[in-house]
Amino acid sequence: MRILARLALLFVGLLLPLTGWAATDEQKQFAWSVVDRNAAPMAKLGDSLFYFAELGMQEFESTKMMKEVLEAAGFTVELGAAGMPTNLWARWGNGRPAIAIVTEIDALPEGSQTPMEFSRKPLVAGAPGHMEGHNTHGGVAAAAAFAVKETMTRYNIPGSVIISLGPAEEQLISRPYIVRAGYFKNVDAIIYLHIGDDSATAYGLANYASISSSFTFHGKTAHGAVDPWDAKDALDANQLMDVGVAYLRQQLHPTYRIHRVITNGGIQPNVIPDLAQTWWWVRDANMPDARETFEKLINIGKGAALMTGTSVEYQVTAAGWPQLGMKAIAEAIQVNIDKVGMPQWSEEEQRFARDFQKSAERPQVGLRSAVTPLGGRPQSYSSNDNGDVSWAVPAGLMKFPAIVPGIAIHEWHAAVTPTSSIAHKGMVVGAKVLSASILDLMTRPEVMQRAKIEFEQATKAMPYFPVLPADAKPPLDMNRAVMERYRPEMRKFYLNERPRLF
Ligand SMILES: [Zn+2]
Repeated sequence: MRILARLALLFVGLLLPLTGWAATDEQKQFAWSVVDRNAAPMAKLGDSLFYFAELGMQEFESTKMMKEVLEAAGFTVELGAAGMPTNLWARWGNGRPAIAIVTEIDALPEGSQTPMEFSRKPLVAGAPGHMEGHNTHGGVAAAAAFAVKETMTRYNIPGSVIISLGPAEEQLISRPYIVRAGYFKNVDAIIYLHIGDDSATAYGLANYASISSSFTFHGKTAHGAVDPWDAKDALDANQLMDVGVAYLRQQLHPTYRIHRVITNGGIQPNVIPDLAQTWWWVRDANMPDARETFEKLINIGKGAALMTGTSVEYQVTAAGWPQLGMKAIAEAIQVNIDKVGMPQWSEEEQRFARDFQKSAERPQVGLRSAVTPLGGRPQSYSSNDNGDVSWAVPAGLMKFPAIVPGIAIHEWHAAVTPTSSIAHKGMVVGAKVLSASILDLMTRPEVMQRAKIEFEQATKAMPYFPVLPADAKPPLDMNRAVMERYRPEMRKFYLNERPRLF
């Protein structure tokens, strides 16, 4: 009897931590006070990354600063994981659950723009720039992870908080490599973070699958007038493949997307090209359908080679699964979105937003004042290589409100505000929602359990397969020449600050 009672006590003792550790309002308020206290260094960090404006695989200054900031804040930081020098993996704590923030800090080609200028005015003509606002991701991720760390320390919460900054998101490159290298094997859940014009989360398939590839035809050159019958025209093959794909379009799922550019079409008309190449991008609402379409492209390429007596080779340069969000995690995030609310925009910021929308010929609706309810975000047609992570680990998805509504990303207008007070206020909201949601995942095993079951069901219904060839290596030279060309001029705008979290 005594043994039974002792066992029962032991059992209750085991249960207590599980049920007694749900992140309390007090703990979240504490985390938010850390975020508020760090609003200035967080903004400074985001602004510093804006002026580095480094393209994918060349995020050297950006990751160096992130490493310094995170190390000074007590994190262990590894650069170069999975064979990519600008891949950053930061961790605090050794315990479980291990919750990772997954995001990116790369810029876009030719995005250089003077902040707060409504007309096109690059800081450095032709240089890259943050015309998507990925610079804000670094600030939000660091401040949120630090707030979680401080809260874990104060309230003795077990677990680990991780930041994974994958290189070259804009080219959809790094995450399949990071997944393949096993970095997420010992991670229990992730939250994927992205800038947006609203405070929102989502579940289910949130965006599109994509496969990026090059098809290269090899033929035989000859003079275009003297002995064209001796040639095997690689450009002909390239064009026939294009026509073949055009005829394929009727037989595809209505959800498909195919786009391409010719990257090599020969030298001049009287030299019959022995080399031609097209860069193809195939997308669909899920990866099995995208892969099915891609396999049809391979056959069309072979057919074009047969017709012209040339040979064809293809190379998959990048591939990303759609993001898969867990409803259990989305519900937890939504509670925090509702609690934190939207930033308190000033009348000046609202006026600025409306003027900006007017000058960009968008509806003059100003800044959003209400958060987005759960389920209010449809599957988007864009793609992001972090999708692969969400098929390896249960994932939550969140956007924070730091963009002026209607301003389209991937064009220079979107580089006007990523260092503005609008962005800074949105970052505070983002870091609060993110830190509270990570604390929920660490302290509410029932949420993690539901997410795990949901994840197992979803990945059983649609099992993950890597699209990246087994021998693929990360393209480390990508964007190097462009960065080397512009960096000396861009350096003149660096802030030369050393933001520190405290
Ligand atoms: Zn992005």
